[in-house]
Amino acid sequence: MTNLSKEIKKTAPPRVIQVPGAPNSTALGNIDQLLLILPEKIPVSLWRKIPNSNKIQALMRRRVKGNIPAIRTRLNNKRHTAVFIGTADPTKNPFELLTFARKMVGSATTEKAGTLGIWVNGFDDETQEQLVLYLTAAAMAAAYSTPSFKSKPTQTKIKQMKIIGSRERLDLRRVTAEAEGNNLARCLTALPANKLDAYAYRELLTDIAIAEGWEHKEYGINELVEMGAGAFAAVAQGNENDSAAIVRLRYRPGAKDVSPALSLVGKGIIFDTGGSNLKPFNSMLNMHIDMGGSAVALGSLLALARSQANIPVDAWLAITENRTGPMAYKSQDVVTAMNGKTIQTIHTDAEGRMALADALVLASLDKPEALIDYATLTGACISAITKRYSGVFTNRPDLHPILKKCGRDSGERVWPFPIGKEFLEELKSQTADIMQCSPGGGGDHILAASFLEEFVDKTIPWVHVDLSACTRKGGLAHIPTEITGFGVRFTLQLILDSNFVTGKIDI
Ligand SMILES: [Zn+2]
Repeated sequence: MTNLSKEIKKTAPPRVIQVPGAPNSTALGNIDQLLLILPEKIPVSLWRKIPNSNKIQALMRRRVKGNIPAIRTRLNNKRHTAVFIGTADPTKNPFELLTFARKMVGSATTEKAGTLGIWVNGFDDETQEQLVLYLTAAAMAAAYSTPSFKSKPTQTKIKQMKIIGSRERLDLRRVTAEAEGNNLARCLTALPANKLDAYAYRELLTDIAIAEGWEHKEYGINELVEMGAGAFAAVAQGNENDSAAIVRLRYRPGAKDVSPALSLVGKGIIFDTGGSNLKPFNSMLNMHIDMGGSAVALGSLLALARSQANIPVDAWLAITENRTGPMAYKSQDVVTAMNGKTIQTIHTDAEGRMALADALVLASLDKPEALIDYATLTGACISAITKRYSGVFTNRPDLHPILKKCGRDSGERVWPFPIGKEFLEELKSQTADIMQCSPGGGGDHILAASFLEEFVDKTIPWVHVDLSACTRKGGLAHIPTEITGFGVRFTLQLILDSNFVTGKIDI
C-alpha cells in the first residue's frame, strides 16, 4: 500500500453506536462528551428525562442568549461526562442548523479524545432525526483531520460516536457516505503538490478503483494528443514529464456494459503557477488546491457508490500541472480541442477551462443523461458571491430553481448565473472560433461557463459548479476546516432527491 493510500484510509468516519430508547445512567456513563440538544422552550415534562436536571435548569436560567453551546456542565459519574447543551430552532434552514452542529461539536472536541454522545430530546420524531443527522455529519467532519506531516501526528478527538435517546435506530448510510466522500475530497485537496503530484494521484486513483470495484481507464497525454485534445494538451505541454492524464472511473451497480446515466467531470490542476502569465506570490500560495474540482467529482462518485445509488456513474478527472517553462503555452497560441473547435489563448492562468474543455468533450461522447463539472475556476465567482456559496451555471435554465433548492436543502448553497450566446460576444476571436477568455472586462465566471458550454453536447443537460466555496477560513456549514470539500452533499441531494437524473437506467 502506498503512503497516500494509508492517508486515504484515515478519512473513514469513526464507528457509530446507536442505543435507542431512554438513556440510563450506564449508557451515559460510557460517554466522554455529550451533546444534548433541546428545544428553545423546554417543557416541564422534558426536564424529568434529563439527568442532574435541577443543576442544569439553574444553569440554563443564567445562560447568555445566543451562546453555542448554551451551557457546559459535567455529570457526576465515573467519567465526569462533559455535557454541552444547545437549544435548536428547527425552523432554521439546513445551513444554519449545520453551522449550529459544527459549533456544538467544536466545543466538545476541545476536550480529551474519547466517545462523543449525541442526544436530541424534546422534538417530534422527524425533527429529532434530522437534528441527529446534522450533528452526526458535523461530528464525522470534525473527527477527520486533513493530512499533516508533523513528526508527532495529531490524534483525532472523536474516537467513536454514540447516538442515544432516539425512538429507533436511524439509517446512517447516507450521512456516512456523504462524510466519506467529503473527507476524501478534503484529504486530496489539502495534500501538498509534492505529495500528490500527477503520477501519485493517478496511482492513488488506480488503488481506489481496485478497492471500490470501479472500472478504471487512463487517457495519457500522448494518447490525448493523438485524439486531438489540443486544449488539455496546451496546458499539459508545460509539464516537465508525461504525468498529465484524463482518468475515467466507472461505478456500475448492475450490468457493467451500460452507458453512464450521470457523468461527473473535475478540474485537477495539481499546482497552478498561472503558467507563462505567472501569478504573483499571494495568488499562487495556495494553488495546490486547484485540483479541488477533481477531488469533489471523485468524492461525489464515492458517496454515490457507498450510498448504493442505483445509477451508473462515470467520473472524468483532468489531471495536469500548469507550469512556466520554455515549452509552456503562451498568449495568442491557437489550439484545437477534441470537438474541432479552435481556441485563441489569451491568459495562461485561465487553464482550467482549457483542461475541462476536452474532458467535457470526452464525457459527452458517452451521451450521459446528465453531466456535472466541478472546478475552482474563477476569482470572479468569489467576488460575485463570496466563499459562502458556489456558483452554478447550466445549459438548461429551467433547472435554476432545482439547483437552488438542492443547495438550500443540502446546506451546500449554490446560486445560478446566466450564460450563453449573449456573453459569447465577448469571446469573439479574430484568429480562431473562440477566445479562451476576455482580455478585459468583468464577469469571468459567466464567460468561463459560457466557454465551457461550447464543449458540451447540447443534447445533454449540464451543470457547471464554480467552487467559490472550496475554501473558507473558519470552515463552512458543518465543516470545521478551511478546505471545505464543498459539493459532495449538494451532488447527492441533486442526484438522489431531485429528478435531475430522471430516466434512471433499468439495471
Ligand atoms: Zn489558473
